Amino acid sequence: MKTHARKAGQGLVSLFLLSSLMGCASGGMGGGNAVNVGGETVNGAATTEERADLTFIREEEKLAHDTYVALGAHWDLQVFTSIPQSESSHMAAIGTLLDAYGIPDPITSDVANQYANPTIRALASQLMAQGLVSLDAALQVGALIEEYDIVDIESRRAHSTKPDIVATYDRLTMGSRNHLRAFHTQLIARNQSYVPQYLSQSAYDAIVGSAHESGGN
Ligand code: MN
Ligand code: MN
Repeated sequence: MKTHARKAGQGLVSLFLLSSLMGCASGGMGGGNAVNVGGETVNGAATTEERADLTFIREEEKLAHDTYVALGAHWDLQVFTSIPQSESSHMAAIGTLLDAYGIPDPITSDVANQYANPTIRALASQLMAQGLVSLDAALQVGALIEEYDIVDIESRRAHSTKPDIVATYDRLTMGSRNHLRAFHTQLIARNQSYVPQYLSQSAYDAIVGSAHESGGN
């Protein structure tokens, strides 16, 4: 297991970055109107809520990516080496929206396991510690990250009516459902049970009991 040294003063930098981001968010509308995304014209600037949501999800996807890369380095199981590519693509999709709407990127370096948002930072370190205990625990962490992503992104989806933002959220949650199915399959193969922490049992059962969806990567 590689450890990632904490740089002195990093906490201060993160706090500064966070307060800068919050300053932007509370400042209301920013970025340009009629942004051109992939050839489609998107009318209107992102709302304060959309800006905060995209900023959060950008790091939420980094959490999934960095956690799986680290767990994959520790536990030799294919699920941890195949899914990070998809998380990378989810991060990039949100990054494209941040650019399109002129929203500052909370990710300012490629350094793994570093986050501006304190909620993400706390969740990441808790999940990493859990995932290093055993391979079964690592798979439970994978399932937990995916159900967290589904519930979080679905709740934020209601904040937006912009087609490019909503379509991206749908793509990310489709990916998460596929990832959840993959972790669930591994847990069952290892005779492990899993109790959903964020999804209802019925919503969880409906996802893992249905077929892999094409797309969402
Ligand atoms: Mn994802
Ligand atoms: Mn995922």
